[in-house]
Parts: sequence; structure tokens; C-alpha cells
Amino acid sequence: MANPGGSFSFDIVVFGATGDLSLRKLLPALFLRDAAGQLEPDARILGAARQPLPQAEFRALAAQALDRHLPAGAFDKDVWARFEARLEYLALDVEQPEDYAKLAKWLRLDCGQVTVYYLAVAPRFFGPICRQLGAAGLNLPCARVVLEKPIGKDSASAKAINDAVGAVFPEEQVFRIDHYLGKETVQNLMALRFANSLFEPIWHRGVIDHVQMTVAENIGVEKRGGYYDQSGALRDMVQNHLLQLLCLVAMEPPVAFEADAVRDEKLKVLQALHRIGERDVAIKTVRGQYSAGAVNGGAVPGYAEEVERPETSTETFVVVKAEIENWRWAGVPFYLRTGKRLPQRRSEIVIQFRPVPHLIFPGASRDVVANRLVIRLQPDEGISLHMMAKVPGPGGLRLRQAPLNLSFAETFQDRQPDAYERLLMDVVRGNPMLFMRRDEVEAAWHWVEPILAGWDAQGDAPKHYTAGSWGPSAAIGLIERDGRTWHEDMR
Ligand code: NAD
Repeated sequence: MANPGGSFSFDIVVFGATGDLSLRKLLPALFLRDAAGQLEPDARILGAARQPLPQAEFRALAAQALDRHLPAGAFDKDVWARFEARLEYLALDVEQPEDYAKLAKWLRLDCGQVTVYYLAVAPRFFGPICRQLGAAGLNLPCARVVLEKPIGKDSASAKAINDAVGAVFPEEQVFRIDHYLGKETVQNLMALRFANSLFEPIWHRGVIDHVQMTVAENIGVEKRGGYYDQSGALRDMVQNHLLQLLCLVAMEPPVAFEADAVRDEKLKVLQALHRIGERDVAIKTVRGQYSAGAVNGGAVPGYAEEVERPETSTETFVVVKAEIENWRWAGVPFYLRTGKRLPQRRSEIVIQFRPVPHLIFPGASRDVVANRLVIRLQPDEGISLHMMAKVPGPGGLRLRQAPLNLSFAETFQDRQPDAYERLLMDVVRGNPMLFMRRDEVEAAWHWVEPILAGWDAQGDAPKHYTAGSWGPSAAIGLIERDGRTWHEDMR
């Protein structure tokens, strides 16, 4: 299937090909992999969606999407000529059994290559699509099915989706995408921890005081208001992306860099999370909703106006104090924070070390700040270790915190590929390392669900914060009550 140069022959069927995810992420990612020489001449892409669309119009839609979403300078006419010829379109209503016969005609059923079914449609269709694929005999041994988030909205719905998909495709043929895991810096977390001898001996409660994880967005709900209003920040960001990051930071060293060895360790972290129920929810979580304000100098409306539901109580911001009940992490809180319409788009992990045990600089004691390791996931991916240093010059010993900075853009000059490029090729390669196993998804819901139930039982609405601020003041109160503060960008 793969030639020695690492290119692949495959058929990919994108269900929901005319949607936002397909046009903004999947087609550009496939184009860039084609440009990199990873697609064999016979690799084919079938866009499948409900609306009837002539082939030429689908190709024009794809060209428009590439024009809009490829990185500057990445479009190449020769690659486009090749890529365009791979693109075909099939009008298919996922709920109509007879449409799958049309799909069968397009597919190469002899399994001479990998067949990828990418479900870029609403999750309520995941089960029905798999059922129809099975009924039409298209659950081929060479097939891989890719599921987008959200996998359900609670444990029961996640289990129902997983059961429906699992009735047709065995687990090893199911790839649940969390695009955060495809980010270079997120994968680098594993390199940082397990390819350096420096960190592992200090990676525990004896040396680390606490961990902060922030995924901040400056955008609002954009066109996703309908979905988002049913979901909220806890389901949309914490249940998947933030918990996956937490697992990578907190897991034990896996016995091998292999999919199940890594996923077994992540699962143990999820199982060790202290459950936050009705009694703790008021002290261990804060939820907020943005009201009108200004972001990057521009006035923006409040969330309720954006989704046109004045009574909405969906949270667009959340902080959770997560605690892992095991020997390595007992007593080390992981503060998880995410929100929309915050001042910046910024994702980072801050490992806060404990202060030195004894100070020998009496005159400078107030200047000594405990070490911090900051892992920046976006923008400006990199790692900074904040250390104390002597300020140069005479005049007594003065101390100041200074960063040791590794910027990936400066050190590795190559373009950082988008997460979807990596993940799509991993699906084709059959490497499930960066995809969530069924038990991980269900364990994550198991932890999130009591928080949702606790909020419901409390019955109070999310606290308002002005768009362009760092969330409600209660978010600062939550961490300051513990004698700690949120990390401010110090690069
Ligand atoms: P979208 O609404 O823009 O597109 C949905 C697509 O599904 C369209 O192509 C539409 O024609 C097709 N479709 C709807 N009903 C159909 C039917 N009965 N038969 C065949 N096709 C049908 O949605 P999107 O934003 O592209 O999201 C798709 C999925 O990916 C959702 O599950 C979403 O939660 C998930 N997701 C999206 C993003 C994103 O950035 N857009 C990010 C993460 C996850």
C-alpha cells in the first residue's frame, strides 16, 4: 500500500463534504499532503453531502476553500491540477439506504487500498451512517471510520454512539479525532517528558505545586451558535481537549511509544480524577457567559444576543479545579480554564514548581519567584522555563526572573503542519496513537457528568463577564483562595 517514500493509496469518503469542517480543514489538509508527495496517483477523495451538486461545482467549492484557508503561498497550480482530478462528489442523504448503493459503485471493494469514511456530520448521524454502511456491506476490512467531536453530550449518549458504531466496525477500525492531539506542541509534550532525563525525576507532588491549563479564544460562537448553545464550554472544550492535555501531562511513562500503551496510561489518569459533585461544584468550578464588550479594539455583542436567546444559561467560560488521586499527584491541583471572547487566542500549560525550601538572600527574598515551565501550544509554539537570575552589575545582589526560551518557529524553520494533516495521514497509516479510545471518551464523560448535574442542581445562572476580559472575577477568586494566581504572559 505504501511505497518506500511514504506515500499512500486510499479512498476517502468525506460525509458532510460541503460543511465548514470539510472546507476549512479537511480539504486543505489533504491538498497539503498531496503537495508533500504523500498521495499516490490513484488516491481518491469523494465528497458526499445531501445537496445535489454537479461535480464541477464541488471542485469550484474546493478551489474557493483552498484559496481562503491554505497558508499564504501554499497554493500550487500543478498540485491543484492533480488534486482536482482526485475530487468527486456524490449527493447522498445519510438516512437514505438506497444512496449507499451509489456509494458502493464508487468504492473499490477489493480492499487493494485503505478506505476512510470521515464523518464530518452531526453526531446524531454517526450511528445511522455506520448501520447503513454495514447493511450495504461496506464495512470492509480495509475501512477506517473517523468520528469528529462531540461524541455524545453525556455518558449515555456517548455509549449509544460507541455501541452503534461498534456494532459495525471493531474498535481498531474506529478513529475518534481530538484535533488537539495532532498539534505539534501537544505531541512535543511526550518528547519533553520522555525524551529528556531532566524532567521525569521532578515531575511529581514533591516538586510541583500546581498546574494551570488555559485554552483561551478571542472569537465568539461564530456560525456554531446552534450547536454551542446545546453544548457549552465544559462539553465543548474540557471533556475532550483539556482532559486530553491533562492526561499527557499527568500520565505515567508508558512502557512503549505504542497506541495502547499510551492510551492505557491516559485512561488511568481519567479514572483517578476526583469526582466533583453537587457539594463541591460551587468551590471547584466557575462558569461564565460573556456580555457585550470589546475584543481587539472592536465592539462585540453578548453571547445571548449572538445566539438570539435572551434566556440562555449556556456557559462560554469555565474553570475547574481538577485533582488526581494517585501517589504522583495527590495534593497538586490542575486548574483548567477555557473561554470565548477572552482578550487573546492563547493555549498554554503552566507547570508551577514549589518555592525553594530555604532562602539565603535576605535582601532579595521578595524578588525570588518559584520556577515555572510554560508550554505554549498556540500561538508562537514553544517552551519557556522561568528561572531566577542575578541582575548583572554591581550594587549588591539583585535577583530577577528570566525565561529560557525555546521557540519552535525559530529552532525548526519548517512550516508547522496543521493538526488535521498529521491526523488524516495517521488514519491512512492505521496509527491510532493520537486518537481517543472508546474507554477514554466514556471515562471523560463519567467525570464531566457530575459537574453538569451539580450545576443543574444548584440552578444558578453562569456569572457574566465582559467580552475582552479574562472571565468573571470568581475565576480569579477560585485560584486566589488557594494562595495562587493565574500565569500572565511574561515572554
Ligand atoms: P456543517 O453544518 O457546516 O456541515 C454539515 C455537513 O453535513 C454539510 O455538508 C451538510 O450537507 C451535511 N449533511 C447534513 N445533513 C445531512 C444528511 N442527512 N445527509 C448527508 N449530508 C448531510 O457542520 P461542520 O461545522 O462541518 O461540522 C461537522 C461535524 O464536525 C459536527 O459533528 C461538528 O460538531 C464537528 N466539528 C466541527 C468543527 C468545525 O470547526 N467546524 C470542529 C470540530 C468538530
